[in-house]
Amino acid sequence: MTTVTGTQLAASSGRRAQNPKVSPHFRYQDSNLIIRSSDEMEFHVHKSIMSSSSRVFRDMLSLDAQNLSTTSDLALVDVSEESDVIEAALRFLYPLPRPILKSLSPMVVLFEFADKYDIPLINFTLQEILSQSNLLTDETVRTFSIAKKFNLTRVEAAVMPYAVQNISKFMAFGSSTEETEVLTLDDIHRLDHSRSRRSVAAFVALHSSTHTSHMSLPLCACRRMGGRAERACEAWTAFADLFIKTLRENPSTDISDPTLRYEVISESNCPDARVTLFTHYAPYIQQAGREIKEIPWAFPEEYEREKLCSREDMGIDDCTFEYEAIE
Ligand SMILES: [Zn+2]
Repeated sequence: MTTVTGTQLAASSGRRAQNPKVSPHFRYQDSNLIIRSSDEMEFHVHKSIMSSSSRVFRDMLSLDAQNLSTTSDLALVDVSEESDVIEAALRFLYPLPRPILKSLSPMVVLFEFADKYDIPLINFTLQEILSQSNLLTDETVRTFSIAKKFNLTRVEAAVMPYAVQNISKFMAFGSSTEETEVLTLDDIHRLDHSRSRRSVAAFVALHSSTHTSHMSLPLCACRRMGGRAERACEAWTAFADLFIKTLRENPSTDISDPTLRYEVISESNCPDARVTLFTHYAPYIQQAGREIKEIPWAFPEEYEREKLCSREDMGIDDCTFEYEAIE
């Protein structure tokens, strides 16, 4: 968190122009604090609101008051941001319409502002907006990077499914924007880990929902004729294999998508493949689908543990430097 003292904030002359430009939306009669932007626009606001919203303003107004230019109760604070940024930020703290945020760049400016002045309300509100916007799908890599840069846990959780599904987009990140510079190879490994961990979990869900149930299902041709009575219909086994393979390539694959079953049926040697998959196993496919939906999109603890183990396997933890003694 950037620490800005009142002295730094009120660094400029502290003298007001004869006819200052005053924001038409922030000119409260009972204002006791003027925030002046870098382009000399004044915002006449309230110490109480700024102190309760921003830890930086609170510290500055309470501890460093003597360094501010004051005229009776009126404090003047110069900030380095331009007026349009101050206006947009203040609208999150006052009962006025908030800016309509349809792209990431203005959000980044506001996240930076919230970070610099330590304003949790702006951070929280922006995370709510971003987590529900179509930027998660339209700008997955940049949104993921912004979540990482500003440590936005809510946004990271929301963007994770799209990030895991679009790892290939991360391969070409090449620091195209300031935010994507925070991406490292480790992020790609982490996404890839989630992808394979999800397919393992899906495999378990699929088999645990059926492994004891084959015996109770009506005998299909391949089980009756091929001595497979103890085992599942070959169409089911082929379906489970195909689903897990497809899921590994595309983590959002829906198990109940009938095209997967049609693909298996067209190649199956069991004449009853169709009734097996669309009737006998339909409830199990539904059940597995519900369980697969519950599988998390991130496995941070497992990933860190596995990373640690692979470092130990390579003997990196034994790495010590020794030197010849100098005579
Ligand atoms: Zn069969």
